[in-house]
Amino acid sequence: MSAPRSKQQDAVRVNFDFRRELAEKIEGNLASFCYQCGACVGDCPAATYSEEFNPREIMLKVLYGLGDELLTTDSVMWQCVNCYNCHERCPQEVKPVEVIISLKNMLADRDIVPTPVDRIIKTFEQTGRTTQVSPAVNRQRERFGLPPLPAVPMDEVQKLLEPAQKEGDQT
Ligand code: SF4
Ligand code: SF4
Repeated sequence: MSAPRSKQQDAVRVNFDFRRELAEKIEGNLASFCYQCGACVGDCPAATYSEEFNPREIMLKVLYGLGDELLTTDSVMWQCVNCYNCHERCPQEVKPVEVIISLKNMLADRDIVPTPVDRIIKTFEQTGRTTQVSPAVNRQRERFGLPPLPAVPMDEVQKLLEPAQKEGDQT
């Protein structure tokens, strides 16, 4: 029979280095206010369709600073569709979606970006849109009585992208 665990062995060790790194990505240490009520889960489309994804559990891991579990090559973070339902539901103003976006940024800093997401980023850099607009899209818009999509001001997009590109060049 193995020896009983001591109180010290059972103590939760919070990884504050990870939490500090996350705090640099997001204004305020938002997850600190999470009291694990689970209200963010009920209306979360990602949690509805995926057994792996749960914003409450993600906030708990953030509270413990479990970066090794959050920033994995098969991270569930990309399943979040940024709908902001969790933000509307959270009584503590944790803004789980913004914590998750920051975690996605940390994944990107580590070059952990799934191929479909990488494709969206490249399309945005080239066209200013997240998906290509084919002539068929404008034909369909015309059928619905909508005008063609306006041209994207790529000089404005370039200005928005410049800080991130400079940051990337320095790393
Ligand atoms: S923003 Fe993400 S975590 Fe929040 S409810 Fe939508 S899919 Fe779920
Ligand atoms: S709704 Fe807010 S306080 Fe409740 S578990 Fe989700 S993040 Fe935490």
